[in-house]
Amino acid sequence: MQEQDNTLSMNLDKLETGWRIKELRMAQNISVAELAQAAHVSKSLISQVERAEVYPSLKTLEKIASALKVNVGDFFQGESLMKRAFILNDYTNDLISEEGALFCGLKAQAIAPAICSYLEEFAVAGDYIAVCLDTHFPDDSFHPETKLFPAHNIKNSHGHLLYNSVAQKIASISERHPKQIIIIEKNRYSAFVGTKLDIWLRSRGVTHITVSGVCTDMCVLHTVIDAYGLGYKVTVPRAVCYSPNEEGEQFALEHFQTAMGVEVIF
Ligand code: ZN
Repeated sequence: MQEQDNTLSMNLDKLETGWRIKELRMAQNISVAELAQAAHVSKSLISQVERAEVYPSLKTLEKIASALKVNVGDFFQGESLMKRAFILNDYTNDLISEEGALFCGLKAQAIAPAICSYLEEFAVAGDYIAVCLDTHFPDDSFHPETKLFPAHNIKNSHGHLLYNSVAQKIASISERHPKQIIIIEKNRYSAFVGTKLDIWLRSRGVTHITVSGVCTDMCVLHTVIDAYGLGYKVTVPRAVCYSPNEEGEQFALEHFQTAMGVEVIF
């Protein structure tokens, strides 16, 4: 029994140490290859350590620590460095409900359960959530979208409210984790333009964001481009994005990966 307990705690140590090394490496924007070179060990060893497949010797740990300019002790203690946020774009009645002014189609509704799972996962993990809502004002002749689309997401209208199950999930998280969530009204495609999103994330130490919502080739695309420009590490899970424009969506997903090094989860 004692032996089993030791094995379990060794496995947990291995996992935590590997994860911690990865965090420290990513916080310094160093690739696996760069860390391996600086530590004079193989690339595959760093990958295996980070994935907790092997536990390095103390000598190897010292080399890795020196390459990361930290102490070996930093691998075993301290608060997690990586702070994450989930960004949801424009999941409003006007875009997602059948009666909406800019209804994106039934497939846009089908991503609601996946969005709710991600929201819950981030909330429970103590990470942050920014719910970004496209927000317009009636007869805004100065807004370029006025010429491009029918009136939509007019502030305080039914169309401007979050859709159905996602609205319920957000309400529940706001009650349980009020300090982790913010609702942001935005007036352009990117959630960063003219909003306090960047300062809200930065003041909480967020370095990694997961971007979701509709449409993949419009608001998600513009939000990801700005996040990239502002230096965030970005993940886009395919399951929580949608665009009715298949070609546009394909372009956006490829552009995320090839032009910005975004992690796209298929
Ligand atoms: Zn709009």
